[in-house]
Amino acid sequence: MKPQPPPDPARFEDLGLVEPLLQAIREEGYTAPTPIQARAIPHALAGKDLMGCAQTGTGKTAAFALPILQRLMRVPAPKPRHIRALILSPTRELASQIGESFGAYGRHAGLVHTVVYGGVGQGSQTKAIRAGVDILVATPGRLLDLMGQGFIRLNGVEVLVLDEADRMLDMGFIFDVKRIINAVPLSRQTFFFSATLTHDATDLAREILHEPLRIDVAPSATTVEKVQQWVYFVEKSRKARLLEQILRDPAIVRVLVFTKTKHGANRVAEELNRGPVRADVIHSNRSQSARERSLEHFRSGETRVLVATDIAARGIDVDGITHVVNYDVPHESEVYVHRIGRTARAGAAGVALTLCDRDERGMLRDIENLIRMKIPEVGPHPAGPGAGPSAAPGAAPHVAAPHHAAPHHAAHAPAHAAPHRAVAHPAPPPAPQAPSTRGRLRQRRYNPR
Ligand code: AMP
Repeated sequence: MKPQPPPDPARFEDLGLVEPLLQAIREEGYTAPTPIQARAIPHALAGKDLMGCAQTGTGKTAAFALPILQRLMRVPAPKPRHIRALILSPTRELASQIGESFGAYGRHAGLVHTVVYGGVGQGSQTKAIRAGVDILVATPGRLLDLMGQGFIRLNGVEVLVLDEADRMLDMGFIFDVKRIINAVPLSRQTFFFSATLTHDATDLAREILHEPLRIDVAPSATTVEKVQQWVYFVEKSRKARLLEQILRDPAIVRVLVFTKTKHGANRVAEELNRGPVRADVIHSNRSQSARERSLEHFRSGETRVLVATDIAARGIDVDGITHVVNYDVPHESEVYVHRIGRTARAGAAGVALTLCDRDERGMLRDIENLIRMKIPEVGPHPAGPGAGPSAAPGAAPHVAAPHHAAPHHAAHAPAHAAPHRAVAHPAPPPAPQAPSTRGRLRQRRYNPR
């Protein structure tokens, strides 16, 4: 029999962390490491490069922040202090969150960190850097700017982190990122995190990592089980109309509609806005401030329908999303799990509806293989292929009127179409009071999936 790998250590005390960090972890209220922490920290402490496939909510920040802090604490800070660890982040929001985490985990470490990002004056950032920092968290554009002005030198960097690398690439930062990496010494430890390992992300990882340990935080069944999932079989040309009909249902309190492309996201939002449903859109071609505004409106409930690409939606921490709609079936099955994980957070129930056309059936089958369940079908509906009661096997034959005929009857589509499943299909959860941004950052919580 093949020997089993040892189980992941279940205690922070077993990971090799020093007491000041353990104390900070206790003060944060963490009782046990998350899977990515348990797997990454011992190897990172041993100096290995890491390639982590994980998204926000897995506890990945501590997985790289704790080993960095411990490494830098080992020797007294050089005088004057200089940047020894650099963390690159695609957005200002994520950079701030990472900065806050370094503040929390490093509160007894005696190290100095700061965060630089664009869209604000640089005065306070350059002042902090001049005073000396050990750890710098930065977005690529502002970092290059400050390097160009001579405020920042990276020749003393020992540890480099690329966080949400796929998103950074999607936002067009590839050349910026490469210029920055070229300014960092080759003899360094590198951590690379990406929610999906796209071709570009994998190529970049190959270029910059040295014999990395690869850690995948696999989507666990718990997310999948908590979300009620339904699929509509629909012709491609009728998806827009079907979506509009679905979204008229007031039981859909806060909904994220996913499309594969930015162009698709724009088109869906435009078509919705021509009718009675108001929708906003978020993708990486929009400016940082426009995206933040859209998010704030979505969080506060001002916007009920947000259309997003996968990359733009990642890292967004919004509670109370009652429904996720997959306007396109994603090519990668894991992406489906990430998408539906946006609802059913914090123990709430959630609903995921997928619009699947003929060409997408193969991808739907791949998803069903991954999640090991068949996604029940909603039918019949007016936009179904060859629509009519007989067109949709599995639909409850006694349903006289599909929900579209009576959209004002509160309950959402699947409950009408398949009333025999209604028991397992409770009303979507009420939207919680949207907290302020600051409160929300504090509320970020480990999502054990
Ligand atoms: P991250 O994926 O790094 O953005 O972390 C998501 C959230 O999980 C943050 O709010 C962290 O404070 C929290 N978190 C990280 N590690 C743990 C842990 N071991 N136990 C409980 N919460 C954690």
